[in-house]
Amino acid sequence: MDWSVFPFVIMRIGGRYLIFAGSLFLIFYVWKGRAWAYKKIQNKFPKNSEYLREFFYSALTISMFAVMGVLLLYHPYIRPLTTLYPHISDRGWFYYFGLFPALFVVHDAYFYLIHRLMHTPFLYKHVHKVHHRSTNPSPWAAYSFHPFEALLEFGILPLFLFTIPVHFTHIILFFLAMIAYNVYGHLGFELYPRGFSDSKWGRWVNTSVNHNQHHQYFTGNYSLYFLFWDRLLGTLRKDYSEKYEEVCFRRDRLGEMRMKGSVSGPTSISKSYNANIS
Ligand SMILES: [Zn+2]
Ligand SMILES: [Zn+2]
Repeated sequence: MDWSVFPFVIMRIGGRYLIFAGSLFLIFYVWKGRAWAYKKIQNKFPKNSEYLREFFYSALTISMFAVMGVLLLYHPYIRPLTTLYPHISDRGWFYYFGLFPALFVVHDAYFYLIHRLMHTPFLYKHVHKVHHRSTNPSPWAAYSFHPFEALLEFGILPLFLFTIPVHFTHIILFFLAMIAYNVYGHLGFELYPRGFSDSKWGRWVNTSVNHNQHHQYFTGNYSLYFLFWDRLLGTLRKDYSEKYEEVCFRRDRLGEMRMKGSVSGPTSISKSYNANIS
């Protein structure tokens, strides 16, 4: 077994995390933190010790993913057993592009199942609690898992590699999009437009407000990319849409009012918000 690829693999996984979590943290928490505080889903910022804990567990998860990833993708006995196909032309472009949505649908179902399991009392107490110590998550929380949960989360890769024919670039691009969405889910700010949570398509798509509520209240909203399973199985929080609109109202309307100079500073912003909703 040649471990010389290990540094590249850990840099690829860690690099993606650092780029997405790091750049959004710098923009939303450092550069614009004060100015955009009124837009935040929960109107307080975590402590530095919380960022550090999230970062520490994420680094642990990344190290585990890298070791297991190298074993699966590069081990001379394991790789030949996988469904990896060498040339995109082997299956054509139609299959190549068509597979991406399927990978997200499969991962969404897998994540939902694992996440519901994580909320059974024993696993919650001994494993999933690590992720839930972030009651007001930051982008650094994206991979903040107990090692056992990291192991189960990693399971999506062997599930793909032993059941669905995939090209190596499917894996690379899929995990790139996965970490981007995961970081957005823990961002603490909403990026989708107003009305999205109740719109025809938007009602099936997971949002940062949705996952933030999961961290704040511990129950309901177990999904990752879509809301199919939460809606079908009745685990979507009843106050989700209301909270979504409240966050977007603060972000957009108060932002506009502030631009026009009709309100200024955090105190008058919250006063005018209260006046507008009452
Ligand atoms: Zn959870
Ligand atoms: Zn989370």
